[in-house]
Amino acid sequence: MAFAEYPVQSLMYITNRPELVFTEGKGSWLTDHNGKRYLDFVQGWAVNSLGHSNQGMIDALTAQSHKLINPSPAFYNEPMLKLAGQLTDNSCFDKVFFANSGAEANEGAIKLARKWGRKHKNGAYEIITMDHSFHGRTLATMSASGKAGWDTIFAPQVPGFPKAELNDLASVEKLITDKTVGIMLEPVQGEGGVIPATREFMQGLRALADKHKLLFIVDEVQSGCGRCGTLFAYELSGVEPDIMTLGKGIGGGVPLSALLCKAEVASFEAGDQGGTYNGNPLMTAVGSSVIEQLTAPGFLDDVKAKGAYLREQLLALSSEFGLGGERGEGLLRALLLDKDIGPQLVEEARDMGPHGLLLNAPRPNLLRFMPALNVTREEIDQMTGMLRTLLKKLA
Ligand SMILES: *Cc1c(COP(=O)(O)O)cnc(C)c1O
Repeated sequence: MAFAEYPVQSLMYITNRPELVFTEGKGSWLTDHNGKRYLDFVQGWAVNSLGHSNQGMIDALTAQSHKLINPSPAFYNEPMLKLAGQLTDNSCFDKVFFANSGAEANEGAIKLARKWGRKHKNGAYEIITMDHSFHGRTLATMSASGKAGWDTIFAPQVPGFPKAELNDLASVEKLITDKTVGIMLEPVQGEGGVIPATREFMQGLRALADKHKLLFIVDEVQSGCGRCGTLFAYELSGVEPDIMTLGKGIGGGVPLSALLCKAEVASFEAGDQGGTYNGNPLMTAVGSSVIEQLTAPGFLDDVKAKGAYLREQLLALSSEFGLGGERGEGLLRALLLDKDIGPQLVEEARDMGPHGLLLNAPRPNLLRFMPALNVTREEIDQMTGMLRTLLKKLA
């Protein structure tokens, strides 16, 4: 079908989209309405942890859709219980609440912290968050985010989110008052430009939280579920947070997210938290398949090895073209361009032939790479080959 024949005008405008309609995907490759293929190093913004149309996910969806789609969140169902058990078995957390998006999981974390503050800390409600952080697009999660301009576009904000600087412990400590109930951050800032929190900072936050009786909350919507080479990114710094949120990769592409906490933090009472689709069997069955595949023997070691390989390739490009190096963890990495050519590279990579390449530039001076966790070394080589061609052209 020609692009002009699609009823594009019927969709509400929210962002500029290229004139492409994606029709199929398999592994690291997408196909558009013209049959052109694209090597996908965006994967729905680090969402498709196992690539497009993963067989295990298809089998889980198909089998579950024949069995039971939604009995109501007011009843237990088997996939919901199985996935909750998988998550508590493989993390430092004891309790899980399922939701549908990262923002919704973070809203849950904020509510949980405020509830805990009401019960155990004289009504303390403020959560210290980081400048340049991203926690979602609901009113509270936009207020928690440290994105430039977000404090005013839908003013008034939800109050109670003072901002500190990532990797600057003193900036956090300075904000602590008797109203503070928690500290929330991404272990690796994703939208902010792939900026890892240092091990010292994470350990310092844990110590501050212990000293002042605060909840240490990690937003692992992007960094979690194998993305950083460990099942959860908090493991990299040897700390145990009190609350964690998951989204994106946990569903491998379907809408699923989770709010996890330690037993002593779980303070919701009947009616405090819920949602029509929470823990629905169709999505949790898929999540269960994803976690099973991520925790299969050798899988995460392979993610680490491929992360190191991608790092080497990016460093080679950086020295070849005099760029600013690279950073990241596992298969969440950025190439620092040191020039504002990110958006141009993204466009030219997409439009090149015979195959296109999908990349992302969360800031104009860097490119972000978030391939499927089962990407192959050959695909990494193909990507760097295509990027080299483009960088030569621009040089
Ligand atoms: C994407 C993202 C979110 C929001 O998730 P949605 O599913 O889009 O609501 C929240 N936090 C982080 C760190 C993210 O990367």
